[in-house]
Amino acid sequence: MGKIWTAGPSYQGTDRLDISVATKSHFGLAFAPNPDMERLPRDNDKAWGEYQTEYHARMRRVWARNQLTFHKLLEKAEVTLVCSCADPERCHRSLLAEYLGRADPERTHLCGERDQLPLAKAAPPALLRPQLMRCFAEGCGMSVGRDKLMCKQDWDLIPKPVQDTLRATFRKGQVLDPAVMSEAYVNAAREARTEVAAAHLRRQRGAKVGAAQ
Ligand SMILES: [Zn+2]
Ligand SMILES: [Zn+2]
Repeated sequence: MGKIWTAGPSYQGTDRLDISVATKSHFGLAFAPNPDMERLPRDNDKAWGEYQTEYHARMRRVWARNQLTFHKLLEKAEVTLVCSCADPERCHRSLLAEYLGRADPERTHLCGERDQLPLAKAAPPALLRPQLMRCFAEGCGMSVGRDKLMCKQDWDLIPKPVQDTLRATFRKGQVLDPAVMSEAYVNAAREARTEVAAAHLRRQRGAKVGAAQ
């Protein structure tokens, strides 16, 4: 396992795992609290303490019944645990992240809550998208501004002509609405991703050869 994030319901990244009681994911449901628990108050430390005890007991039962479920989660390179509670500090998504971190401290990296715009009823849907995106390079996970394809480090690995195509085909509106993206941009982005992955691989091999000598 690599990175473990938590996020509210507006997060739509590919590593999203909805673990709320209302989740449509069968896998995610294994980590959801008992529906009765969701009705417990959590507005003071004592109530939150009781909630934690309940959730911990529930996770121990899941662990006892089917360790594979946990291992499946621990094997993911990156996962974002999603629930609809407004306060991540008083939500089981943070508890689960903590348990996973403790279960495999050497291979897990707790990254905390993802940056998102606060949910405001009046905001148009486009504004509910995360302010930050993940770097498009494979396995990177760095947060980048919405007008950026990759983090600086990975961007510099893209061949110059591909960089130029990306710059030329970038449309301002795509920052708020990905549907505005041109096909040329999408193709160049894919090519960039492939090129960066290849550059990473060359580096890794180089490092291994160096280490072997
Ligand atoms: Zn929650
Ligand atoms: Zn990157």
